[in-house]
Amino acid sequence: MGVKHRIMKSIILRFGIPRIKRMMEKQKAIQDRPDAIRPTANSPTRFEIPLEMMNLISTRDDIEMKHMLPVRRLLSVMKNIHRSVDSLEENPMNPKISITSEEVTKLEEYAQGQGVSSLGYVKLPQNLIFQKFGVIYENAIILTMEMSKEKIDKAPSQSTMNMVFKTYDELGQAGNQIAEYLRIKGYAAQADHPLGGLVLFPPLAQLAGLGWIGKHGLLITPKYGPRVRLAAVYTSIANLSIKENNEHDWIADYCALCGRCIKECPPQAILEDTVVHESGLVTNIRQQECFEYFGQYYGCSICVKVCPFSRSATMYQRLKKVTQR
Ligand code: SF4
Ligand code: SF4
Repeated sequence: MGVKHRIMKSIILRFGIPRIKRMMEKQKAIQDRPDAIRPTANSPTRFEIPLEMMNLISTRDDIEMKHMLPVRRLLSVMKNIHRSVDSLEENPMNPKISITSEEVTKLEEYAQGQGVSSLGYVKLPQNLIFQKFGVIYENAIILTMEMSKEKIDKAPSQSTMNMVFKTYDELGQAGNQIAEYLRIKGYAAQADHPLGGLVLFPPLAQLAGLGWIGKHGLLITPKYGPRVRLAAVYTSIANLSIKENNEHDWIADYCALCGRCIKECPPQAILEDTVVHESGLVTNIRQQECFEYFGQYYGCSICVKVCPFSRSATMYQRLKKVTQR
């Protein structure tokens, strides 16, 4: 067993797992609040990566982590997940529920100042809330944040992994800042962290019109393709402008022509034929196969790197023309 693997295993076991379990319990307690919106019987179950990782490296001798986890970033991520729950206490007693278009513009400018790449609005469907978790408001603001192309192009590598965690952390901080901004303006808000979120983000972001889910199960956005991380802020604002149609649905047709991520995924985890369940939820990848690979190789990200939409902002229009031909 390699030195890196031994060090990481002992850090995760001794310090990581008890902290992560405490954090999860705090997140789960939200669904006990009388005002909580809870999951339905058809809601998905959250894949608990740290606990699954521990299980994997404890039970399988053939699994070995090649990377070092960016511990400082992880601690900051956990601090911001705690903050997203603790700060619910700071919501106003009688929050405002209506916003003007001028105030929306200011909110969007504020979010962009926090590094957010795009925002969308949607009513949260209950069946996207993970089992055993809950949220307080159905009015959802969805946030995307770009991941560095230079670092994604090096995937899988330690520098790619460090950048991915940096993006998670910065987007998590931005979500808390936006929730704080809304509270100061008299609204109630609940930030949902991009790592360890309470809701399945890609379909929620698709419903908000921010892009379309590709074969790899990731949201493809017009500007950065799948090179983004997703988060949300739920709020008392009931009159957010919700898009009726999603103009990015043609991406599904391009995926049917392309299939590059399916071919290049090292453990062949991406399904050729996407499975649509009775509940309407969709399975794009074999989670265990993907997990075993990315758990060993720097969080992988090869499917993000090879997706043509990741290349540049002009690809969206070029590929749209190809598809329409
Ligand atoms: S992250 Fe890697 S292993 Fe997982 S689906 Fe993408 S390419 Fe495949
Ligand atoms: S690589 Fe091709 S098939 Fe896979 S998500 Fe991107 S466009 Fe779709």
